[in-house]
Amino acid sequence: MILRGKCVSAGIAEGRIHVVDVGSWLAHALASESVSQPDAEIARFEAARSRAARELGRVRALVAQRGRAHDADIFAAQATMLSDPKLIGRIEEEIRQNLQAAEAAVARAAIEFHNALKASEAPSVRDKAADVMDVGQRLVYCLDETAVAESPKADVIVATSVVPSQLVRYAHHGVVAIITETCGAKSHTAILARGLGIPMITGIEGAAGRIRDGAPVVIDAAAGVVIVDPGQAEGDAVAAIRAARNAPPQAGLKTVPKATSDGVPVSILLNISDPIEAENASAAGLGGVGLFRTEFLYMDRASWPSEDESFQAYERVAQAVGDGELNIRLADFGAEKSPAYADIPVNRNPSLGVRGVRLLLSRPDILEPQVRALARLGRTRPVTVLLPMIDTLDTLLRIQNELDRICGVSSGTARPFQIGTMIEVPSAALLIDEVIDRVDSIAVGLNDLTQYLLAADRDDEFVESYHDALQPVVLRLVHRLVETAVRRGKPVTMCGELAGDPLLMPLMLALGVRRISVSRSQVNSLGAVLCRLSMADVAPLGAEVLGCSTGKEVRQVLKAHGMSVSS
Ligand code: PEP
Ligand code: MG
Repeated sequence: MILRGKCVSAGIAEGRIHVVDVGSWLAHALASESVSQPDAEIARFEAARSRAARELGRVRALVAQRGRAHDADIFAAQATMLSDPKLIGRIEEEIRQNLQAAEAAVARAAIEFHNALKASEAPSVRDKAADVMDVGQRLVYCLDETAVAESPKADVIVATSVVPSQLVRYAHHGVVAIITETCGAKSHTAILARGLGIPMITGIEGAAGRIRDGAPVVIDAAAGVVIVDPGQAEGDAVAAIRAARNAPPQAGLKTVPKATSDGVPVSILLNISDPIEAENASAAGLGGVGLFRTEFLYMDRASWPSEDESFQAYERVAQAVGDGELNIRLADFGAEKSPAYADIPVNRNPSLGVRGVRLLLSRPDILEPQVRALARLGRTRPVTVLLPMIDTLDTLLRIQNELDRICGVSSGTARPFQIGTMIEVPSAALLIDEVIDRVDSIAVGLNDLTQYLLAADRDDEFVESYHDALQPVVLRLVHRLVETAVRRGKPVTMCGELAGDPLLMPLMLALGVRRISVSRSQVNSLGAVLCRLSMADVAPLGAEVLGCSTGKEVRQVLKAHGMSVSS
């Protein structure tokens, strides 16, 4: 069966399907027919338990290897659950006394344990409820011996939707690709998938119900093609995808140019959400890290990272960028970015709720350890702390006071780091003349700025065409921000997905942008375009685009200049 969807993150993958729909795997397991030979069923269960333990060991090693020792504890705890005598006893009882198939016995026991943990008063115990379900699902999965034998390592997640914390978790599990029914192209999930190099396809309606758990699958995400249960009819398509996959691997980061072909300096920096993404940044000649989205360090954990843990993560990035610059953003929680253990308010409209610094101002338990870790790093090398979701000058001044209080800065003593602000809320953008004087630099978050300017949810693919950064209102505001910052001698960096689109690089340059921070997967193509562009050629484009009144006119101008853009 060939299914077609939309590419979120390019790449080729092959593996077997793992449907992450709690209802569906449970329903499937509970529907297993009862058995007549409980001894044989117990033996099956035991074999699955050993296999699950081996898998967990592998995942744990993988996570530890990526320098996330604390996260590895989650999988160690799951491995302990696998040998919990109470859980095993309950499963065996279901098999022996009720003649349940191992799958159904595991599912029943998992539900019981999950409900008991969930009812606990203690948050640390409640948090384990999700782990029991994970362990249960893994056991059921491992009971399918044939599927495991076909492809022991590669899992392709199929889900209705995936939130960023799940994506981080899947990445740690070594998942090779993700298929969802919905996902906005500029959502954090999408950005993470691209950053971590995990192929991802969306827009396959009913995927979680239509695709069989355990089915072999071949994916070409760039083409939006998913081949499930490939048979003879799909033979050619599969062969073509495999051939592409077996082609010599793309080299890692290539050396990026530092100027246009006519010598105008342009700095390409990296957006990262995990220290691993900064690897080789300095060897590739990148200007450093323009945006470190630290909130993702908090996902897939059981508790808040300590000051030491955060410091170690920052230090790892600092080593990777060498002399390059380092812009680390305070955790931008809220909206769909909330770790499971965090007691973060669920707002009626999360994008308009307690997000970014709004949350940090009310949560010293999150803010203080992070700022202390940043101050420690700032005493060893230059660092800029970026403030997420600044809306008004009042909020900017309040958070700056907090930073000074935590760092023990008083008038006359210097801050241990520079302060930059994200400009992603229109109110802050419109106030740029005042804001710019109070910070050392600005980073324009085009994803959110576009979302709030045009009232179009970046996570909702149904309004994707309205989330259009090529609208004149967005481009004029970008131009104003860049002009103001340059006039005041402050660095201005363009972040967000549009900034990293190589096809639109001439437009960025024409609007005055000279610093662009992009995800790792965009670096090579952006570098290749930059060294071919001449500023003299692209400059006239600026005035033409700024004179447009509609998105359609902008596109016509870009087209006339040889830039292919979606309509
Ligand atoms: C943005 O909003 O464009 C941005 C860079 O921040 P994030 O994508 O993390 O919200
Ligand atoms: Mg943002």
